[in-house]
Amino acid sequence: MTVKVRFAPSPTGRLHVGNVRTALQNFLFARAQGGTFLLRVDDTDTERSTKEYERWIEHDLEWLGLSFDQKMNQSDRFDRYDEAAAKLKAAGLLYPAYETEEELDRQRKLRRAQGQPPVYNRAALELTEADHARFKEEGRRPHWRFRLSQQTVEWTDLVRGAQSIETASLSDPILIREDGSYLYTLPSVVDDIELGITHVVRGEDHVTNSAAQIEIFRALGAEPPAFAHTPLLVGSDGGKLSKRLGTLAVGELRENDGIEPMAICSLLARLGTSEPVEPFADIAPLIEGFSFDKIGRAPARFDPAELRALNARILHDTPYDEVAGRLEEMEIGGGEMFWNAVRANLETLKDAFEWQSVVEGPIDPVIEDAEFASAAAALLPHEIGAESWGEWTAAVKEATGRKGKQLFLPLRLALTGRPRGPEMDAMLALIGRERAMKRLAGERA
Ligand code: GLU
Repeated sequence: MTVKVRFAPSPTGRLHVGNVRTALQNFLFARAQGGTFLLRVDDTDTERSTKEYERWIEHDLEWLGLSFDQKMNQSDRFDRYDEAAAKLKAAGLLYPAYETEEELDRQRKLRRAQGQPPVYNRAALELTEADHARFKEEGRRPHWRFRLSQQTVEWTDLVRGAQSIETASLSDPILIREDGSYLYTLPSVVDDIELGITHVVRGEDHVTNSAAQIEIFRALGAEPPAFAHTPLLVGSDGGKLSKRLGTLAVGELRENDGIEPMAICSLLARLGTSEPVEPFADIAPLIEGFSFDKIGRAPARFDPAELRALNARILHDTPYDEVAGRLEEMEIGGGEMFWNAVRANLETLKDAFEWQSVVEGPIDPVIEDAEFASAAAALLPHEIGAESWGEWTAAVKEATGRKGKQLFLPLRLALTGRPRGPEMDAMLALIGRERAMKRLAGERA
């Protein structure tokens, strides 16, 4: 069997860590199996879906390195959904119902008050021809419900194991609204059948949908695909992530927080699995190691601090060649020497600006002992290179008798204005003699 999976976002917003995780799982599985990864744009809700968000989704997937092999839009396929709906209607499995939202709400409350599950009472199945005619005359338009079998639906979920859902405990799902528009349930099944999807990999919030959808697959004469429902992401405090999703959109992480794509992929691939979260510079080992068996049943906790820490570890190991283009775009000079000097001090690439300003100035030096600084200045080598720091500090030690922190900290504070930072060998060479002399004299330079 050739694996074919789909990632099916609605283009009603930017991708966020929750749906990126679903995309990643689909992508990793497809690539591990030599299969196909399809981007299905769920844009049947023509009011809320926009082309702009669709472009962002493609853009974000590309940036994350999750390239898809095929793309389709549900909005191009209404005729296919109409056909499927006609088939279900002909089989008596899609029936019209006229209850308003208020009526349904009242019924649900009543059932709850009677201690019954708030399931649709199927009153519409009892309507006579005359009732239908009367509703039509009154100008009422029906919505359409799928008639569940009221039997047990079973499947072996690749993450959750054996699943068994009594469809009698569910309301017959509405597939078509009063205005003729489709809810997500039916189009998804029609597409999964026609595109030959072999595995549906999605969040656990869809488990109940799956019971109804499995019945719809069968009603349309198809065998359902395999299912893998992964536990949802929660916040680091265990609370719902949905409230914070705005700040966890790919756009925000990328453009505001300066997070690297592989930090996001590294974290989301391992979160909630039996393997530890580690920084990966490349997606290949994540593909190789992917297995549904490793995904746990407990909700995975997403912690932005963990993402930042991973981001830092990835940057620390990033060779110059891989960032040269971006440093150039940021107008950060200093080449490989600069990068190798500062990378271990970066949490995000944007932090390189701070060290650029330390190198190029102006900064305010911190001089606590002007006499010591001037004694050190007098000993500064005339030609400054990578070896100079060692030679210079040895000479200053000799001349002043200072050593350790007493020796190094005031020089660092004078030259960089900061108590901590990159190794001083490279920093001194990057700062250069002229600027170093000014800073040792206490001048802003
Ligand atoms: N558009 C649906 C969602 O984002 C797709 C669910 C599915 O994968 O079937 O929830």
